[in-house]
Amino acid sequence: MIAISSPFIGDEEIKAVEEVLRSGNLAQGRKVAEFEEAYAAYVGTKYAVAVSSGTTALHLSLLAHGIGEGDEVITTPFSFIATANAILFAGAKPVFADIDEKSFNLDPEKIEEKITSKTKALIPVHLYGQPCDMDRIMEIARKYSLVVIEDACQAHGAEYKGKKAGSFGTGCFSFYPTKNMTTGEGGMITTDYPVIAARARMLRNHGQKERYLHEVLGYNFRMTDIAAAIGLCQLKKLDHFNEQRRKNAEMLNQGLKDIKGIRTPCVSPAVKHVFHQYTIRVTGDFAISRDALREKLIKEGIAAEIYYPLPIHHQPLYRRLGYNDHLPQTEKAAQEVLSLPVHPALGEEIFKILSVVRRIVKEL
Ligand SMILES: *Cc1c(COP(=O)(O)O)cnc(C)c1O
Repeated sequence: MIAISSPFIGDEEIKAVEEVLRSGNLAQGRKVAEFEEAYAAYVGTKYAVAVSSGTTALHLSLLAHGIGEGDEVITTPFSFIATANAILFAGAKPVFADIDEKSFNLDPEKIEEKITSKTKALIPVHLYGQPCDMDRIMEIARKYSLVVIEDACQAHGAEYKGKKAGSFGTGCFSFYPTKNMTTGEGGMITTDYPVIAARARMLRNHGQKERYLHEVLGYNFRMTDIAAAIGLCQLKKLDHFNEQRRKNAEMLNQGLKDIKGIRTPCVSPAVKHVFHQYTIRVTGDFAISRDALREKLIKEGIAAEIYYPLPIHHQPLYRRLGYNDHLPQTEKAAQEVLSLPVHPALGEEIFKILSVVRRIVKEL
């Protein structure tokens, strides 16, 4: 089976973990500080705060900005559930705006109509590794004095007009094994504001300002030094991983572009897309349904996946909370998207994916 994702772990990571284990310094130590410094330098922000996951990065970012009870946060319903759930964790209300048909990202033109006197923040998600239209999003945020928290959990190293994802607002990253770089489990918050960084540091460690002095209700969202050591190795390889993803995506583009009913990814000229996922649309013009194509690919050993089959506002949890919005572009995308393997561990397999797709199409 050609997997949809595969962590790329080398001898460096194994050696780095061994060193940490032998050092006896296992959590929130020197390696974590070193990883934070290197990550901030990479993204181009003054600070980076390591946490236990992408979910806790989003949760703490909202709390660090003082968002909670009675506040509304506008986000996309076409994302992993963690984006919206983090807003619930903070006690605030997620408000969903529809996506742009081409990029699958939050459509800036749909944001303003959702703004009320209670709106405090926007959480754009750079879905599949393609940054959102950050000029428009930052313009709206300035106009209405809104906080911007970027969900960059799929966009390590991605750029908008030469500036890295996660450096426009408060950036949130995940290092889960399927992401562009991994630490096993882990996350990072990036910011230029010392106050936000300080609050996030306090909140991740039981609200401690100094040892056993607890200022606020905090959490245990710390990162281990084991994870940080892996992260330092992975960060060095990230640009190479992303180049490999982009090359694989270009090969898939070339091989799939002439197939009737399949739309290859639309990439804005303003961005550097890092292809966390390579996601096509299988439209009504294609000979069989999206789900039937997926079944055939799986039978041939290609793990084609759907991200995401059920939009967040239609999830049982959100239905129960009373959400019944109709967001046509999101709902259409959920019916049409199909992701093909694009990860950097693919070699010759990329040719197999293409030949299988072309053979399936020919046989229809
Ligand atoms: C992976 C992901 C998250 C959550 O990250 P975890 O590390 O799994 O908690 C949040 N948002 C998006 C868009 C993601 O892809």
